[in-house]
Amino acid sequence: ELEYLLCSLVYPLANAIMYKDAVESALKDPLTGVYNRAAMDVAIKREIQLARRYAKPLALIVMDIDDFKSINDTYGHTVGDCVLQQVATSIEGGIRGTDLLSRYGGEEFTGLLTNTEEKGALLLAERIRSGVEIATCAPNGTPINVTISLGISCLRDVDDEKRLFDKADKALYQAKLEGKNCTRL
Ligand code: GH3
Ligand code: MG
Ligand code: MG
Repeated sequence: ELEYLLCSLVYPLANAIMYKDAVESALKDPLTGVYNRAAMDVAIKREIQLARRYAKPLALIVMDIDDFKSINDTYGHTVGDCVLQQVATSIEGGIRGTDLLSRYGGEEFTGLLTNTEEKGALLLAERIRSGVEIATCAPNGTPINVTISLGISCLRDVDDEKRLFDKADKALYQAKLEGKNCTRL
């Protein structure tokens, strides 16, 4: 009896697990294992609502690998992909479990920082930046210097998700203009 019961449970259970994996992978970037843009687009709306509801600060960091095109052109796309994975791992090591990290585009990452004000975001961004800078990246033996530039924005009353993103993106552009491998607010 018990055996029969267990057997009849196996298939629905296996299906449930497969379903969970499918949902999970729809929200994750297969190359790096971090969340993807679809996950980020949903999360940013919800985080803004929560921040407003509970009067908590919210910060966004947009990160972009410096001169990534030349890394690809010099070492090839396989090495480029390796660099992407390593950068994702470095960033993950620097943020909290409650922060949502996503690969937003090709070589762009975003970090959504729950309950974090300007000062905290700056501190964290600097930790991420130096973490990427000092991490050794040598996919085929030859070390490659990899750095990222970062832009930070903090949620204000007038901001919706688009404005919050645009502000961080502008700050990132400023960081690129001012020499890369740095953070701007
Ligand atoms: P900047 O310092 O101003 O950011 O310059 P950049 O070269 O990083 O920026 P640009 O936007 O000119 O180039 C981005 C490059 O990212 C283009 C493409 O070669 C590369 N790229 C985008 N997605 C992937 C990917 O999934 N894998 C690999 N290997 N390369 C990618
Ligand atoms: Mg880019
Ligand atoms: Mg770049």
